[in-house]
Formats: sequence, C-alpha cells, structure tokens
Amino acid sequence: MILLLVGPPGAGKGTQAKLLCERYGIPQISTGDMLRAAKRAGTLEKRYLDIMDSGGLLPDEAVIGLIARRTVEPDCGRGFLLDGFPRTVPQAEALDQLLASQGGRRIDAVIQLDVPRSLLEERLIHRRTDKGSGQIYHLVYNPPPPGAELEHRADDRPEAVGMRLDAYEAMTAALLPFYEEKKLLHRVDGVGKPEEVTQRVLSVLGRPSSGGE
Ligand code: AMP
Repeated sequence: MILLLVGPPGAGKGTQAKLLCERYGIPQISTGDMLRAAKRAGTLEKRYLDIMDSGGLLPDEAVIGLIARRTVEPDCGRGFLLDGFPRTVPQAEALDQLLASQGGRRIDAVIQLDVPRSLLEERLIHRRTDKGSGQIYHLVYNPPPPGAELEHRADDRPEAVGMRLDAYEAMTAALLPFYEEKKLLHRVDGVGKPEEVTQRVLSVLGRPSSGGE
C-alpha cells in the first residue's frame, strides 16, 4: 500500500498518517519530520534551516534525496505513507521514477484533506508539540497537561503561517491536477474529530479508485 497524504499545514495530516499507518502496518514518511530531526541533530545545512524557519520550501533535490534513501529501507517493503511529499510537480515526477526503479511500484491513492483556511490559521497558531513524546496539542481545544515541556514550531508563528498557507495554495494549483489526471486523487473533508476523518479516508480506500472524489 503506497499512500500519499496531501493537505495544507494544520489539516491533520500528521494525526491521520499515524492512524492510517497503524491500520495498514506501514511506516509514515514525513519530510517535515525528517528535516526537523536533522535540525535537532545539527546536520541540516544553514541555508535550509533559514528556508524552513521562514515557512518556504526547500529545493526539490534536497527532499527527493531524503525520500530516495528512506523508501528503500526494509520497513518500506509492504509500502509506506508519504506525508508532506511531494509538494511540487518535479517532486511528483521524481517519485514516479523512483517507484518505477524499485521494481515497478505504484501509488495506490492520493488523499487530499480539505479544511477551510480560517480554521487552519486558528489550529496552527494554537498548536504546540510535547518535546518528549511528539504529542500534538491545541492550547484551547486539546490543552496539554500541566508541566508538559512544549515546543512552538518556529513556522507555526503567525508571521510564517500565512506564508505557508499561500505556498500550499500555489503548490496544489499544479500538483492536484497531476494526480487528478492519473485518477488517483480523492478529496476528503478534514473537518471533524480525527476518528471521523479517518473513517472517511478508509471508506474512500475501501472502494475501487474512481478518482476525482
Ligand atoms: P511540514 O511539517 O510538512 O509542514 O514541513 C515543514 C517544512 O519543511 C516546510 O515548511 C518546508 O520548509 C520543509 N519541507 C517539508 N517537506 C518538503 C517538501 N516536500 N518540499 C520542500 N520543502 C519541504
């Protein structure tokens, strides 16, 4: 099972990815998580660090290399879920080539989580992550326990959020038609409780791909 999860920042991609990966027994591959891990380890180049912190996109070749190395690891044998990659048409084309070179593997479905922009801004600005467990909280609707050591992502600050949402809108203008043409794209309403959204995704995956939903 090779799944792609597409959605603006704050749409719940990370949450849905975890639930879907448990369900299908496949690993979640998030370029954002990999880059943040490199940042913490001090191995991310300074020019990439600056781009990330301002909410911009890294050059295609930087993220394609990460995915090429990660998808040949043994735990990807049964498939994987990509979260946050591809974000551009050149990345999508590189992914097709990469999968073809791995014995003719193919994408099963591309799930797009739809959430209105006003709700995304509200979610991102209040989002905090527990430094130890990675658990995500919303300061108002899902507050962290007292004493939790929280991280406020630099790119979740109000000045970067607008730029990331604009970048997403520009990106999808080209990327979604790419997958629509291939009849792989399924649009899912991302508003609601995480389990409700997962049920919508599962019902889409349970049906033969008819595209453009
Ligand atoms: P995310 O957690 O997916 O929002 O990613 C955080 C940041 O990492 C993004 O704002 C970009 O700076 C960078 N990034 C992650 N994935 C990609 C990608 N596929 N292409 C370019 N930049 C990326």
